[in-house]
Amino acid sequence: MPFWRRRHDEPPTPEVDEPVDPALVDPDWEPDPADFGVLDDGTPVEPLPTTDPLLPFEPEPPSMMTIGIPAPVPLEPPPTPAWAEPVRETPPLSEADEEAALEHGLERTRGNFMTRLRTFLGTGTGEGPSWDEVEETLIAGDVGAALAIDLVERARKRHEPAGPEAAIRAELAALLVQRDLDWSPRSAVAAGPAVVLVVGVNGTGKTTTIGKLASRYTAEGRSVILAAADTFRAAAIDQLRIWADRAKVPMIAHAPGADPGAVVYDALDAAVARGADLVIADTAGRLHTRSNLMDELAKVRRIIDKRLPGAEPETLFVLDATTGQNGLAQAKAFHESVGLTGIVLTKLDSTAKGGIVFAIEDALHVPVRFVGVGEAVGDLIPFDPDAFVAALFA
Ligand code: GDP
Repeated sequence: MPFWRRRHDEPPTPEVDEPVDPALVDPDWEPDPADFGVLDDGTPVEPLPTTDPLLPFEPEPPSMMTIGIPAPVPLEPPPTPAWAEPVRETPPLSEADEEAALEHGLERTRGNFMTRLRTFLGTGTGEGPSWDEVEETLIAGDVGAALAIDLVERARKRHEPAGPEAAIRAELAALLVQRDLDWSPRSAVAAGPAVVLVVGVNGTGKTTTIGKLASRYTAEGRSVILAAADTFRAAAIDQLRIWADRAKVPMIAHAPGADPGAVVYDALDAAVARGADLVIADTAGRLHTRSNLMDELAKVRRIIDKRLPGAEPETLFVLDATTGQNGLAQAKAFHESVGLTGIVLTKLDSTAKGGIVFAIEDALHVPVRFVGVGEAVGDLIPFDPDAFVAALFA
């Protein structure tokens, strides 16, 4: 029997491709190097690798390269969207740390708005206040024109013995709504979770706030379930899932385009079945289809009432502090349509216009519950009016 085998690119020959009688095969047979001869320079010829002669010949499948098609170039992975980037994980802040974070978050406001305000109030200069400029500074700091005029009028009439700065400070503090400082979302029904609906315009920080809230309440020992009821944007569901994973809380989601009411209904079902304490629902925030949006929110509210009668969900409006008086107009529209119970003012660290806090509480008589002072998990601080005014005037 020949010891060579046909290479796969040689034409078949009957001699090689005939079936071999197994009885003739010597299992211990090894090729003898002497059979191969030597090259001209005396180097022995290496045998070709042998294959089992009993196996049928199988030609190698042609590769893309052998049939002339270049191998596909691997695609660049898509860039990671900003919201999927890891955030600075911080444990929940202690009270002292929260105070420090608030002061730090208000640095811009203090450095700009407050410095100007103090200059025109004549603080530390021995000169009297220049009320017109005080008014302008309040307007520039997003307090709002009508309110700024009123405020200055009242401050002047106080004839505050402690001086004009104390008068403005007292008048600003008086604009803030009275609230229970121990507030947190509580269930109004036995054996049912507390429900928080988070509403607002896209980009204001809704998802980030939900993630921060989920981490905060989980750290307090409460069991939280997130409901991905912004089904309008597929990315919103993915983004919320990232925050759910960070906070290690379950999330109920349907496919993009699904009925947001059904998502919330399922999340409430899951919360009742698992005995969860709190359901936080994201909702779609698109201002250009306002009536659809408001109808959708009203429907979600009805579904909550149907599944958990008497649940009294908290409806938190997320407002981007950098949008100033525009944001205030958004808040009014949402309040008229769905009835807000609280406000979360985000990005207070990115603006020098802390005056929006006074404007919004005065306009809506709805308390600011939290302020966002950064992008990290711990950068959401419960709003305490006295601490806020103190940090502003520090
Ligand atoms: P959504 O579209 O309303 O859900 O908004 P996102 O939660 O995606 O937030 C939009 C952007 O605002 C993101 O880049 C967030 O990191 C950022 N953001 C949210 N809250 C704060 C905050 O309190 N401070 C700062 N500086 N950025 C924030």
